[in-house]
Amino acid sequence: MRIILASSNSGKLRELQAWMSDFDVCGYETVMTPFEIIEDGNSFKENALIKARAVYAKLGDKSAIVMSDDSGISVDILGGEPGIYSARYAGKNATSLQNLQKLIDTLHAKHIQKTPAHYTAAIAIVCEQGEFCVHGWMYGDVICEARGSHGFGYDPSFVPQGFDKTLGQLDESVKKELSHRSRALALAQIILKTLKRGQ
Ligand code: IMP
Repeated sequence: MRIILASSNSGKLRELQAWMSDFDVCGYETVMTPFEIIEDGNSFKENALIKARAVYAKLGDKSAIVMSDDSGISVDILGGEPGIYSARYAGKNATSLQNLQKLIDTLHAKHIQKTPAHYTAAIAIVCEQGEFCVHGWMYGDVICEARGSHGFGYDPSFVPQGFDKTLGQLDESVKKELSHRSRALALAQIILKTLKRGQ
């Protein structure tokens, strides 16, 4: 059973491929020319479905399964920002580093050292049998500096609940165990295994 990931985000692809060793997983750019997908949904779920549907619609092999992940970080004191805009917090073509820097600058401007935040991941699956979407969350705090180089995106400023180090400093196994993405993936794998049995 082939699973095509509708994402160009190398950090996400790396995590999903490493955590899905039971499946034959590849990025969509290995099966088609990359194209722009307008993520204009109002929730992580809507954007995850938009991405998976867009790639499935262009697939020649309709027996393949397309999976996508839409995710981001929400900071309570910022009214949930950047949320679904996490990938473009510092502008449309901003890099991960620029987005992280904008978050740090925003916290600095408000004289905040550490404040509650959470990550959300919505994983959508689109295939012949239908459309599915599951979620996972990871709670903790964001700090107004970057520490460590593990993970990607906002990880150097995110301290998971129960830890005193950022995801940038912690071993990657912590993310595999506790993250929003790994929790959503655990649910997605139940759906994928059921689909596999039905083939
Ligand atoms: P998407 O590709 O449109 O879903 O954008 C997700 C954005 O949220 C990424 O560009 C990251 O900045 C951020 N993000 C999502 N998941 C993570 C994570 O696990 N660690 C750090 N940043 C993340």
